[in-house]
Amino acid sequence: MRPVICIDGSHLKGQYKGTLLLKDVVDDSNQLVFVSDRKKSIKWAITRLFPLSHHGACIWHIEKNLIARYSSSNVIFLFKRAALAYRVSKFDQLMTQIRTIRPSMASYLERAGISTWSRAHFVGNRYNVMTNNITESLNSVLRRQKSFPITLLIENITSLMQRWFYERKSASTKCSTTVTPKIDDELRKSFDAGATLPVRNLDELIFEVGIATELCTVDLIGNTCSCREFQMRQIPCSHASRVACTKEKSLYDLCSPYYTTEYWRAAYNEVLHLVGRESDWVVPQSIRSVKVLPPNIRRAPGRPPTQCQRSRTERSTFR
Ligand SMILES: [Zn+2]
Repeated sequence: MRPVICIDGSHLKGQYKGTLLLKDVVDDSNQLVFVSDRKKSIKWAITRLFPLSHHGACIWHIEKNLIARYSSSNVIFLFKRAALAYRVSKFDQLMTQIRTIRPSMASYLERAGISTWSRAHFVGNRYNVMTNNITESLNSVLRRQKSFPITLLIENITSLMQRWFYERKSASTKCSTTVTPKIDDELRKSFDAGATLPVRNLDELIFEVGIATELCTVDLIGNTCSCREFQMRQIPCSHASRVACTKEKSLYDLCSPYYTTEYWRAAYNEVLHLVGRESDWVVPQSIRSVKVLPPNIRRAPGRPPTQCQRSRTERSTFR
């Protein structure tokens, strides 16, 4: 899978409150990218736990803030175009327009940190993951479960993931195309968009594609295009598609393996097992001996702990 993780805190509503976040699942790396609403707590945690990674802002959250502050749809449209621009020159051009129309909005966007929301300026590769909406969807699915006790919440998440893994595994097994259907569709669009563009060889594997101000240079040694979409998405842009067509090269060969059906199948190949019956558990001594402290309890000062809180406090080892 592409190493891009969308992250958001999910506030638990059960006895012990708290926030659902996971940290021991992935290794730190400079290829790793997080996308979040950049709340202070998440920003701080990522800096501390994944110091090598890069952290981008969700542009949907920024857009929501802009609507609340400025409610000017044409300038917000310019912001979206600026955020999604691949080229720095295109970004600069759009930012100049924003600054001319609404200087205060341009200042706000600068304070938000341009490199966090502009794809052209982002350090690291977030591909086309510009929002963390997927986490909002997951939060919505878990709306009811967030009131459950923690063990029941985890069982519910496991059960949900089992169903999703099975559904995706079944879909990927039935798929017969080289790349996933969504990417197949994107390749078709790129191919159509580039179909009539003129191509000129500059070298055996370097080409000039297009005309006048829309001229781009495609390099098939490093798989790059001066429009920057090819290297950032790792899917051929219209210019690279045109070159592939004239050179009778397969578009599939210009895609990252991340987009292949083979990788899609591999992503959902694992079977998630439930914890099973307690009588069948084989718990290693190293786990038995771990002392688990009771969770931090949020209760009104001066109030005695509830029965549930007392029993948690009295329990000294994890079963
Ligand atoms: Zn291009």
